[in-house]
Amino acid sequence: MDYANIREHVKEEFTIYLNKHKHRKTPERYAILDHIYSSKGHFDMDSLYNTMQNSNFRVSRATLYNTIELLLDCGLVVKHQFGANVSQYERAYGNENHDHLICINCGSVREYKNGNLFVPAKQKTLERFKVSYYSMYIYGICSKCQRHKIAEERKLEKAGDKKETTKKTSKKK
Ligand SMILES: [Zn+2]
Ligand SMILES: [Zn+2]
Repeated sequence: MDYANIREHVKEEFTIYLNKHKHRKTPERYAILDHIYSSKGHFDMDSLYNTMQNSNFRVSRATLYNTIELLLDCGLVVKHQFGANVSQYERAYGNENHDHLICINCGSVREYKNGNLFVPAKQKTLERFKVSYYSMYIYGICSKCQRHKIAEERKLEKAGDKKETTKKTSKKK
């Protein structure tokens, strides 16, 4: 499914869901859905609120929270809890089958696409369980934090060396 089709498709699904559960079909709700599906990656509620404010479609926080609950309920949005961070969300369609690399030091989250990491899911059926999508959390230290740690260690080493040399020179005196 191409990108424009996905946006149409999710709108239709949302309409079916709203009708079925007798929720009101407000333009705000559709605007939020479309906004989520026109941006990539993960977001938390604050960042969604802020980008919605800039997109000249102003919605209240109450509407935003209420709509996210509906979108979670009908499966158009997925909620993540990466470590101890605030909940993050992402769109469900057109975004399937990726893993998340979460840095336990700085909390950054990177998406990682590798079909080989979880091969059984490729078969689409696990013990007669039909897989719609999967998501894996891999915790570790990101490359930025690793570089930072090495730099810190070098700094400490250098500081240690200096102390050594000053000790030696003061001894000489
Ligand atoms: Zn990090
Ligand atoms: Zn993701």
